[in-house]
This record gives sequence, C-alpha cells and structure tokens, in this order.
Amino acid sequence: PPDLEVRGLSLAYPDNENALREISLAIPAGKITSVIGPSGCGKSTLLRCFNRMNDLIEGAEYTGSILLEGQNILARDTDVTLLRRRIGMVFQRPNPFPKSIYENVAYGPRIGGIRRKRQLDAIVEHSLRSAALWDEVADRLYESALTLSLGQQQRLVIARTIAIEPEILLLDEPASSLDPISTLRIEELIYELKHSYTIIIVTHNMQQAARVSDMTAFMHLGRLVEFDRTDTIFTNP
Ligand code: ADP
Ligand code: ADP
Repeated sequence: PPDLEVRGLSLAYPDNENALREISLAIPAGKITSVIGPSGCGKSTLLRCFNRMNDLIEGAEYTGSILLEGQNILARDTDVTLLRRRIGMVFQRPNPFPKSIYENVAYGPRIGGIRRKRQLDAIVEHSLRSAALWDEVADRLYESALTLSLGQQQRLVIARTIAIEPEILLLDEPASSLDPISTLRIEELIYELKHSYTIIIVTHNMQQAARVSDMTAFMHLGRLVEFDRTDTIFTNP
C-alpha cells in the first residue's frame, strides 16, 4: 500500500476559520496511524480531506496539499470517484445498505463491472473472511444486513469497503457506537488489516490509539501538536 504526505494543510468552515491550521505529517505505508485529541479539534475534518469528503460541505475551503504517489489529491482536477475507490472510509455508526448481507458486499464490485456470479461469490467470501465475519454469516448470506448485531454490521461495512479493493482505509471512530467486546473484535480486525492497507483511524479513545496504532497524531484546536511513534507518545509524561 502507498503512503500519504500532508503538507501545510489548512481548512476553514464559514463558522470556523481555523478548523485545520497548517498541518504537515507523513502517514507511513502499511501502518496504522491514529488521530487523537479533544472533541472539535479537527480530527474528522482532517480525515475527510483524504477522500475529499469536505468537498460536500458548503463553504469549506482548504489550502495545502496531500500527496499520494506524487499526485496532489487536493488538486482541482483529481478524479474524486477514483480517489474514493482507492481510499475507503468507514464511519462511526455502522451504515449497511438495507439489503442482504451478500448484496452489501457484492454491490461495489458489480458496479465496478464484475457480473459473473461465481466471481462475485468469491469476492463476497474473501471480503467477509478478511473482515472476520464469514463464519458468523456464511449460512445466512441472503438475510437482511439489518438482522446483524451492530458489531457485525460494522464488520460488514468493513467487508463492503474491502470488496472495492482500496489501498488506504479511513476509519472515523469505528468502534465508538459498539459494546466493549465488539470494540475489541474491531480492534483485532484493524490490527490484522494493516498488513494489506495503510490505515488512518480517528478515535477519542487514547487506550484504543495506544493498543492499535503504530504512529499517533495528537491534535488540538486545529493544529497538529505531536506526531510520533505511538510507543513514544504514550510513554513520555
Ligand atoms: P465528532 O464525533 O467528530 O465530534 P460531532 O458530533 O462534532 O462529531 O459532529 C457530527 C457531525 O456534524 C459531523 O458530520 C460534523 O461534520 C458536523 N458538524 C460538526 N460541527 C458542525 C458545525 N459547526 N456546523 C455544521 N456541521 C457540523
Ligand atoms: P473532531 O472530529 O475532532 O471532533 P471536527 O473535525 O468534527 O472535530 O470539527 C472541527 C471543527 O470544525 C469544529 O469547530 C466543528 O464545529 C467544525 N465543523 C466540523 N464539521 C463542520 C461542518 N460540516 N460545517 C461547519 N463546521 C464544521
């Protein structure tokens, strides 16, 4: 998987001129980088820059650059649809489609042009296995995704994301609406996934950042105040 380089990134909303202030950091490839800091410090805003989700927010204006394999993804001529295929995002609240478990995972690849049932079946199985959900759903693939527990729904959303074959995963508080056991399962899963993806996870949970991430970015009032190896950040007083 690729790395990402953020250079001098600033972002203003109409009611907050300094949502992000001159952020620069290098997100390493094939590692987990956590973004932590108090509520409102800009964590989600930073995450939304990587897949240009802030483009959808009226009046959001940004400057600076984010380099992905030498290309500035914030450039005007970026193919945002393609970018969002390369950089998948998972949100705080599980948001499966109100369709079958199978269809949730098969949808993206089918839109991407894969039509043969056997090929789709293989992708669905592989994605559900990668998301540590296969054993729990193999015999109920055609049931509605909404019959799953919240923790299972979040793993389904991760499987759906994986099925599109992204290179980078953005996770915005992926466990914060889940119970403690589901949270640990998601953390284990994220840890497994780092072998295949570059992962950025936003969390307000410091212990979670310490448990899963290799690098930690600590934000405050739109600024990056620390960026270092997680073990360094959490052992220094
Ligand atoms: P977080 O968990 O990141 O703290 P919030 O509860 O602050 O999330 O925000 C929830 C949603 O509301 C997010 O999608 C965020 O973009 C949006 N939001 C937050 N602050 C504002 C604001 N001042 N104006 C409009 N939308 C906002
Ligand atoms: P965090 O994720 O750390 O809680 P956010 O990135 O959600 O922080 O918010 C950073 C700042 O930007 C806050 O002041 C918030 O109110 C503001 N903000 C977030 N989303 C929006 C939005 N959609 N429109 C306007 N302001 C927003």
